[in-house]
Amino acid sequence: MPSLCRDCPHHSQADFRLCPACGSRRTVSHPALFSLFIAHMDADAFYASIEKRDRPELLTKPVIIGGGKRGVVSTACYIARTRGVRSAMPMFKALAACPDAVVIKPDMAKYVAAGRELRAMMQALTPLVQPLSIDEAAMDLSGTEALHRAPPAVVLARFAREVEAKLGVTLSIGLAPNRLLAKLAAERDKPRGFAVTSQEEAMALLAGSPVSLLPGIGPAAEKRLAVHGFRQLGQLQGLSHADAVMLLGEDGPALVARARGEDNRRVNPERETKSVSAETTFNSDIADLAELESVLWRLCEKLVRRLREQEFSAGGVVLKLKTASFAIRTRNTRLPSPSLLPDTLFAAAKPLLAREADGTKFRLIGIGANPLRPASEADQGDLADPDAPRRKAGWQAVEALRARFGDAAVVRGRGLRPKV
Ligand SMILES: [Mg+2]
Repeated sequence: MPSLCRDCPHHSQADFRLCPACGSRRTVSHPALFSLFIAHMDADAFYASIEKRDRPELLTKPVIIGGGKRGVVSTACYIARTRGVRSAMPMFKALAACPDAVVIKPDMAKYVAAGRELRAMMQALTPLVQPLSIDEAAMDLSGTEALHRAPPAVVLARFAREVEAKLGVTLSIGLAPNRLLAKLAAERDKPRGFAVTSQEEAMALLAGSPVSLLPGIGPAAEKRLAVHGFRQLGQLQGLSHADAVMLLGEDGPALVARARGEDNRRVNPERETKSVSAETTFNSDIADLAELESVLWRLCEKLVRRLREQEFSAGGVVLKLKTASFAIRTRNTRLPSPSLLPDTLFAAAKPLLAREADGTKFRLIGIGANPLRPASEADQGDLADPDAPRRKAGWQAVEALRARFGDAAVVRGRGLRPKV
């Protein structure tokens, strides 16, 4: 079986567990090792690793990056994690679990600089790098074997060692036939990992995993799936297209494909931030503002649900309209502070829509979130919108009811207008 040493990095078609060249046990063997080329790379406890690099006396101590205004854990080093500290945990809880932790306020400028260096190193391997966050990226290494005189697996192992030496942070790498499987592989072997998944083994590998393993399946989606008895990915893998639509709605078939480990997204170097949106095409064109608004309201609810599932909030909104003659209009505006409340998004999009509704007939309306912000920043109740936390609590109650009894259980005032 093709094997690779991650330390030296000796590689051969012959199977080895102990590197014949350097004696290292950090080896990886997989039948598809030298034929896969989509990689997911994620730095381990990035902020904490950078602080430890700069202050070696912290190396053996539990380190938490966080505090500040919101008082939550931003990153915990692996020592702190073994004591139960997690990202987004309130600081008082983290310190109760790990009283001897060294707490450091985030130094974003420093992390951004390190992230840029990391990105530049990736771009030297392939132009097809899609950054997903400051320390996480997808890479497509197809066609680079001649340039690097080595298969992608070897290039990646070499890269991880270079990053450790130059930046002082360790990486976890997943190698697979597509982005989804590469991401899941990178998560499977952390920290300082290197995991390989082929398409052939994907179904069996995912079958026993909880649905929440998939990116985008947050607590709300998990509850909705549980209503139908879906708890493990294996239960979704066999659903027909028709059943997926009937039970799970229009996004059902895409979810089933992901449960099977299928993903045809390309590594797109231009798309740094994912955009999240919701749109609908009308059965017949609409010019009436009130009618357009009632559709827009429902789309705002849908958008919020999608944002929540992906742990984002909206820093602004983008309204998209397509006229009966297929001309596309987009209008955008920033929110005073990030939000996950449908009424806030609706209030921001409404005047944009009013300006466009001049009698023109539209065949499509959509609403998107841009820029994306972390969900944790949403609706903090600042001066711009002091009432936001109360409305957030109300909205969460509605979502909880819907998760139990279905979408129709709670229809808010605006959703009662005639359906299109
Ligand atoms: Mg990371």
